[in-house]
Amino acid sequence: MTDVAIIGAGPVGLLTAILFRLQGRSVSVFERRTAPSGHSRAIGIHPPSLAVLEAAGVVDDLVNSGVRITRGRAFSRGDPVAGLDFTSASTDFPFILSVPQNRTERVLEDRLESLAPGALQRGVEATKVEDDGGSVRISAQSPSARGKQAGTFQARIVVAANGAHSAFRPALDGVVRTRRYPDFYVMGDFRDDTGFGDDAVLFLEPAGIVECFPLPGGIRRWVVRLRAPWPEAGPVPLAELITRRTGRAVDPESNSMVSAFGVTSSMVSRMVHGRVVLAGDAAHEISPIGGQGMNLGWLDMAAMVPTLGLLLDGRPCAAELAAVERVRHKAAKRAAWQAGLNMALGRPMPPGLLAARNRIFARIVEAPAVQGFVAKRFTMH
Ligand SMILES: Cc1cc2nc3c(=O)[nH]c(=O)nc-3n(C[C@H](O)[C@H](O)[C@H](O)COP(=O)(O)OP(=O)(O)OC[C@H]3O[C@@H](n4cnc5c(N)ncnc54)[C@H](O)[C@@H]3O)c2cc1C
Repeated sequence: MTDVAIIGAGPVGLLTAILFRLQGRSVSVFERRTAPSGHSRAIGIHPPSLAVLEAAGVVDDLVNSGVRITRGRAFSRGDPVAGLDFTSASTDFPFILSVPQNRTERVLEDRLESLAPGALQRGVEATKVEDDGGSVRISAQSPSARGKQAGTFQARIVVAANGAHSAFRPALDGVVRTRRYPDFYVMGDFRDDTGFGDDAVLFLEPAGIVECFPLPGGIRRWVVRLRAPWPEAGPVPLAELITRRTGRAVDPESNSMVSAFGVTSSMVSRMVHGRVVLAGDAAHEISPIGGQGMNLGWLDMAAMVPTLGLLLDGRPCAAELAAVERVRHKAAKRAAWQAGLNMALGRPMPPGLLAARNRIFARIVEAPAVQGFVAKRFTMH
């Protein structure tokens, strides 16, 4: 019997395990992958998350291996449109940190191993969770052993942080709200020859937005909005598309990753189901445009772990849990709304209309009275 079993060793599951361990609880983490993922999906870590990561004891490692983005700039048809300073959004962390998700997961995994050696068990896929009111039984199999039973485990609380396709979500929460957007994107990492330094840059173009962000190691991630899926995307056609839209040359030879994706969002109605908690993308999948999903999952668990500690101590906490859940549900709705706005900003638009829209955008973003507010919105405060 472990205090807390966590299903899924993505960024949310790993941080949850660390937070519970720092509370003095025993933890087990079950991950079906036999090796860490090599994907660099999430790159942006916002100031409120950096404060949580500091409490978890990993912020120095992450800051030392990332790029500090302090400014966003927008261009359209070769001309500057607006600039946004992120430094006013936080005194402790006056920047958005850019780190590839696989590096973030590595740092979290190392920290967990130092706090709870052997707690992470790879190659174990949870197949069923059964809550008897006092504890939860987890059935698991080993994917590498072709469905062979890996065993059953018992925990006082289970956190299912097993991603947007969580197998437990439909049975636990019958009211999952899912939405498909008419937006498609292709992204790719190339050597950074732009001269933009550590700035995040948006190109607001008639054919659709192109965004680019600095990554550690002199790399820049480009994200291009498409009208339709692009299965044949590769380094050469993507480099050509970036140049066509923005006038900027990128070297296809320097490409290290290309990925095309469509956008779905989904949200459960409740995160807490007795002694089983849905966390991270298993609770809410947010469009990657705006970079909030991982941060949202971390902030949920930072808010929820102390209250779940009351449950572990056998103290009445139903009202407190419900209150935390309400606050976090609102935060998820706000993040989904913000992501929808970010996607709308990047949709194709006739040149005349685009110019008028950009003038309004610049006025809002750069108005002294609202600049602090906009910076806070973009940094998840
Ligand atoms: C292109 C892209 C860019 C993004 N950029 C950003 C960004 O800049 N900032 C941001 O905040 N977010 C971003 N996101 C979103 C972010 O990647 C996700 O929100 C984040 O990965 C969610 O973390 P998680 O731990 O909840 O789930 P996941 O990362 O999906 O991890 C779930 C884990 O559970 C494991 N698992 C699944 N089922 C089982 C099972 N039954 N038993 C055991 N293990 C299981 C999986 O193998 C996986 O390792 C981006 C997403 C994409 C696609």
